[in-house]
Amino acid sequence: MPDTNPQFVWVDGKPVAWNDATIHITQVGTAGVSSVFEGIRAYWNADQKKLFVFRLDAHLDRFAQSIRLMRMQQTFSHAQLKNAILELVRANQHAEDAYIRPIAFTEAGMFGSAGGDQGRIVINTQAWQSRLKSGKVNHACFSSWTRISDNVMPPRVKASSNYLNSRLAGEEARRNGYDSALLLNANGKVAEAPGACLMLVRDGKLITPSVTSGILESITRETLLEISREWLGLSVVERDVDRTELYASQEVFLCGTGAEITPIVSVDRLPVGNSEIGPVTKKIESVYHDVVRGIDAQCPEWRTEV
Ligand code: PMP
Repeated sequence: MPDTNPQFVWVDGKPVAWNDATIHITQVGTAGVSSVFEGIRAYWNADQKKLFVFRLDAHLDRFAQSIRLMRMQQTFSHAQLKNAILELVRANQHAEDAYIRPIAFTEAGMFGSAGGDQGRIVINTQAWQSRLKSGKVNHACFSSWTRISDNVMPPRVKASSNYLNSRLAGEEARRNGYDSALLLNANGKVAEAPGACLMLVRDGKLITPSVTSGILESITRETLLEISREWLGLSVVERDVDRTELYASQEVFLCGTGAEITPIVSVDRLPVGNSEIGPVTKKIESVYHDVVRGIDAQCPEWRTEV
């Protein structure tokens, strides 16, 4: 993470200087309960000297869905937010990989009102270098915490409060010497990692928990399923996944905007395959790397040039 802050934060319709973008101290906690957000990456193409925001429309659609499901008012349209993000990234002069985080929240008190709260919107950006193709790998363990479920705190909504569940699992995993946690859902099936979805390769098939498994409906997951199915001709299966299937897999990896593609080389100290990044993961990572940066020109609708 960079040690300098960007110049501007976008607040309720306009860019505000970083130091002036504040909320009152009494809002700590309560504003967080209502807040929903998005995490979006922009990738720098050094040859073209261009920055591309990846899957911006899909992220804004999911943001609108989170706002709607939390019964907040939509204060800005898709087009206004898209424009705001592009203007903000330009104002902050990112000529590097960057991360963009729109947040919607209300100041209506701890539990919100019944009438649809007036939502406030903040967007911030920061430099964040991609780690695609860096060779980094993770050792993972199953968490003693259960993934939140649709009738408790819907994981489909990208709500900040949901990340208490993620924090508990991630902190436990790191305390026990692992890089990442994996969570089972209330039915005892594999859900996802604290901040990423999960895929496994078994006997040539790419398998991932279905969207009713207690997961965030990940845009990276959807992108990789399409790439794998349509471009790489892989057999792709979305279904319930058992814990022991991960032990029996040849390859396991996490996927998400932040996690990008993170190979998992052991689960509960059992090596996955031969404990190296597997050939299917490598292939998918390579294609994903090229498409997010616009090195591969396919699917131009996935990239918004800044
Ligand atoms: N699950 C959780 C809990 C996450 O926080 C994320 C990151 N947004 C993902 C999955 C991956 O989602 P996406 O690919 O849309 O970033």
